[in-house]
Amino acid sequence: MHAHEVRVETHLGPGLPGFNVVGLADTEVRESRERVRAAIINSGFEFPAGRITVNLSPADMPKESGRFDLPIALGLLLASGQLAPPAAEDAKPSTPGASLADMVLAGELSLTGALVPVAAPLVIALSVARDAPGATLILPAGSAEQAAWVPGLQVLSARSLADVAAHAAGAGQLPNAIPRPWPEAPPAPCLSDVRGQPGARRALEVAAAGGHSLLMMGPPGAGKTMLAARLPGLLPPLARGQALEAAAVAAMAGLPEALASQPPFRAPHHSASVAALVGGGGRPRPGEISLAHHGVLFLDELPEFSRRALEALREPLEAGRVVIARALYAAQFPARFQLVAAMNPCPCGWRGHPARACACTPDQVARYAAKISGPLLDRIDLHVALPPSDPDWMAAAPGEASDAVRARVIQCRDRQQARQGKPNAGLAGAELDEFCAMDDEARGLLVQAMRRLKGSARAMHRALRVARTIADLDGQDRLAARHVAQAVQYRRPSV
Ligand SMILES: [Zn+2]
Repeated sequence: MHAHEVRVETHLGPGLPGFNVVGLADTEVRESRERVRAAIINSGFEFPAGRITVNLSPADMPKESGRFDLPIALGLLLASGQLAPPAAEDAKPSTPGASLADMVLAGELSLTGALVPVAAPLVIALSVARDAPGATLILPAGSAEQAAWVPGLQVLSARSLADVAAHAAGAGQLPNAIPRPWPEAPPAPCLSDVRGQPGARRALEVAAAGGHSLLMMGPPGAGKTMLAARLPGLLPPLARGQALEAAAVAAMAGLPEALASQPPFRAPHHSASVAALVGGGGRPRPGEISLAHHGVLFLDELPEFSRRALEALREPLEAGRVVIARALYAAQFPARFQLVAAMNPCPCGWRGHPARACACTPDQVARYAAKISGPLLDRIDLHVALPPSDPDWMAAAPGEASDAVRARVIQCRDRQQARQGKPNAGLAGAELDEFCAMDDEARGLLVQAMRRLKGSARAMHRALRVARTIADLDGQDRLAARHVAQAVQYRRPSV
């Protein structure tokens, strides 16, 4: 997710005509020689005679795609004296006749000298804004409009090599890129569509309010999927920076770049491979957990996912990012997502149902439950059992709408931000002691519950984090017994 700066050096020397590109360039970069040669000639310049050496540094970084065409071509025009920009101090890079010193350029050339859009311009723009403050970014039209979403960065839009050369020579002015309009996201489905299930609705609100992961267990038709899909609509809208990061991840995965204020919702099928889930591939791409960055990852039928896939989730769940190691380098993608998982109580789904018979043997039920590992379950703060759908619920009035719940969630998140600078789900160890002050009755209840449940330290922390959120929803600074009592109910439902 970091676009690294590559310096393009060109040397024009005497000797037999030749054109070498060095610096661990792959096939695409070598092909760029042919494009650059044609583009220079077709833009009305002369292709320099003599021995040309182009160095892309740092040399140990793998480079791909044709994005180096434009800087290589400009380097050749400079080296051959066909382009003579003024000295660095004379002008800002965004004005005509500017020095190339503070310009960052990327673009593939067609044989005619026209510029072709580059992949993931948003990633380039975010990196330039962060690593090279004050630089002007020049990108092909079609890419520049997404890059211009990044605040505080000057982006110029170019259509051809000739336009960029004219700008650098002072004979023309490249236009500022006009940010592509933000597409309006379709509204999230509303919580009022879900009839009944008061316990699960409450758990969903607690999950939204504290950023907690949630496991729902219940029979088919209980509304698990409907509830999960409504979580993004209960969360605070994304800040500009978060929306930009989410859009950049989507671009890296080859999806259309779109800025949305609604947190993403990803629901991969249980047959998804480990690479599809956490990212991978020869040229690493982000997986579902990164596409869910700043949003919700929903894993329906959790026990049906492969054990390897579930194990691969553990580290990113803790770290908020995923690292994919390759021979020469490691790719890192952000993955700060909220996990919502759902499962049936048994393979057939009807165990414990009042009207339908379960066809599973005790052995099958035990094997099913054992498929999800203890360590993964330990990382899920809220566990809630859903009863079968009740016919009375269908006749009842619709429940509270998402807007009303979201208003409470935002207020609750603001409390957490002011107190500790992060959602309660991120509290660990000493922070829990610091921020979970409680009265004696609450402490007694917690100790008693942990003893009865044979809870580990991890289980205790989980209960404390959830109790903290319940107290925050209640507007209380100190945890009371009623907060702790509710929190300890959100433990793993027995199978
Ligand atoms: Zn069954």
